[in-house]
Formats: sequence, structure tokens, C-alpha cells
Amino acid sequence: MEFSSKLLENAVYHMSQLPGIGKRTALRLVLHLLQQPVEQTSDLSRSLLALREEIKFCSNCHNISDVALCQICANPKREQDVVCVVEDIRDVMAIENTGQYIGLYHVLGGKISPMEGIGPQDLTISSLISKVGQNQIKELIFALSSTMEGDTTNFYIYKQLKPYDIKISTIARGISVGDELEYADEVTLGRSILNRIPFEGSLKAT
Ligand SMILES: [Zn+2]
Repeated sequence: MEFSSKLLENAVYHMSQLPGIGKRTALRLVLHLLQQPVEQTSDLSRSLLALREEIKFCSNCHNISDVALCQICANPKREQDVVCVVEDIRDVMAIENTGQYIGLYHVLGGKISPMEGIGPQDLTISSLISKVGQNQIKELIFALSSTMEGDTTNFYIYKQLKPYDIKISTIARGISVGDELEYADEVTLGRSILNRIPFEGSLKAT
């Protein structure tokens, strides 16, 4: 792509670094911004920079939060000893939308994936194990997507928790294999949490 302006080229380059945005789309977005009032661009830039610089992660569940303890963990009405293990904030949002779950979450920040070079130490697994070790958790519910990476991650955590007396369940799979939680419909997802099954049983079934 030949550009008549270095400024334009730069902006298109940085826009195209985002996932799913090719050079053509990046150019379209940048040209769109050029047609809008300058405030739109400054608001966009400022909000992204503030997000990046000021974002916090909840000290208990590692979910994205504006304060040290997120509003889910800080809510006394939630069951503090039931913890749903999810990959990221999109899963928290999907499960919250069902209105069916009143426990807490533990956000792993990804899944174990040797292909992508993501190991257990890159996730918040040790913090989860230490919460279990401190007897803070009565039941753990696995709600990772049922991909190979999700299954590997579940199994890794399950093995780490062998020494502890804790109930481990997994969401019932009305959701077909490979579906991401965020795309599951609310009724199906809500039901699969309520009808969760013992994790060991799910191992024998496969
Ligand atoms: Zn939290």
C-alpha cells in the first residue's frame, strides 16, 4: 500500500496491529476518523490510554476492575466459597448475564497452550491453588470452553488440587464442543451452570 502521507501510513499501521483488522479496514477506519470532529479522535485516544495505564485487576479473582476488590467479590450476598474458573472477563460477563450464578469467579487470564507457549505459570493458577489451600473454597466449577486447551487446563488444575478436600464440578455441556462461552445463549449457559456435574464423572465419560 502506497501512502501519500507518512502520518496516514503510521496511523494505518498501528490500527492494523489490532486483531481482525487488515490494512484495508485500518485505512477505512482512519479515513473515517479524519472525517469526524477532532474530539472523537482525542476522546478515543484518551480513553484507550487511560484504560491501559489505570486498569486494575481484582486482588481476589483477577477480573478487570476499577478498584482493588471487584464489585462481585465485594458483594456480601454472593456465595464466597463457590468459585467458577473462567478464562477471561468475557466469560464472567456471559455468566453474569444469565443471572443464575451467585458465587464468585477466578479469572485465569488464558488457557494452557503449549502451541502458543502459554504454560501454567503464565496464568493465575498458583493464586487459585493458594486460595484452596487457605480453605476459602468449598466448590470449584470449571467453565472453560471445551477445546483441547480448556480440557488441558481443567485437568492440570484438577491434578494440582488432588491433595485437597474440595468439590470440583464442571458446567454441563449443552454447549457443543469448541463453542466459546461468550457465544452460548443465556438460557443454555444458565442451565449448564445450575446442572453442573462432578468433574471426575466428566472424565470417565470421555
Ligand atoms: Zn473479584
